[in-house]
Amino acid sequence: MKKLISLFIVAAMLAAVLVLATGCGKKTRSLADIKASGKLVVYTEAGFAPFEFVSGGKVVGVDVAICGEIAKAIGVELEIKDVNFDTILGAIKSGKCDMGAAGITITDERKEEVDFSAPYTTSKQYIVVAADNTTVSTLGTMAGLKIGVQQGTTSDFIISDAIDGTEDDDGKHVKGELEGTGATVSGYKSPNDVVPLLLSGKIDVLVTDKLPAEMIAKNNADTLKCFELFYDDGTATDESYGVAVAKGNAELLAVIDTVIAQLIADGKIDEYIVYYSNEVTADE
Ligand code: GLN
Repeated sequence: MKKLISLFIVAAMLAAVLVLATGCGKKTRSLADIKASGKLVVYTEAGFAPFEFVSGGKVVGVDVAICGEIAKAIGVELEIKDVNFDTILGAIKSGKCDMGAAGITITDERKEEVDFSAPYTTSKQYIVVAADNTTVSTLGTMAGLKIGVQQGTTSDFIISDAIDGTEDDDGKHVKGELEGTGATVSGYKSPNDVVPLLLSGKIDVLVTDKLPAEMIAKNNADTLKCFELFYDDGTATDESYGVAVAKGNAELLAVIDTVIAQLIADGKIDEYIVYYSNEVTADE
């Protein structure tokens, strides 16, 4: 009886380990699984126009158009789910979705968690401030200010590093440009959430990617303006967006890369950017 009980305990522990290792019982779907289910499940954060936003009650935008072409190439329906940006990579890893498409910047840290498609467009960090602001220009000029970012994004990482400092390869602290100045960073679901706070003066600066910043400035032309973020040594940021899939999901990634290469060759990505920046308005 004792033997049986210990056998049972070992079996239960093994099962628990398996469930944990595969991400709570769900697993990454292969291309064949996706085809069989008839739908491609994509997670995004729909507050990032022109890449993804809600218009006419539906999530649309550059990334959604790209994903539509990927779904078409696979021969399935596209299912888009709007989630917090900082949960997308985890959802890909645990198999809750097949892909992440959310203007996701390809970074070395993220490459340790997921696989990325070839880059489909580039971006830079931008600053959004009140139209009459005369003090903010480079990163260093944000000393002591209240800075808003989208949680878990490259904007968040850059500002948090500037405020907290970083560590070099020997583990030595490297002082950040904003460290000790009293500058603070607050994270929000979407850059749009920072707009009312900027307008009321609760937040001094919004840092976000170029096209979303330009969109926000355009929609608030009387009150806000935007410009590129430069470090105080004159260097700027340079980012590339990719579609993310689970590590090792090579068949799915191959389809995505083929579609993206074709879209770039046909000038479609630029067309989508112009269209979703100018022709489609986000719901209030
Ligand atoms: N490109 C930025 C990042 O990957 C922001 C993306 C987004 O907010 N949707 O962190």
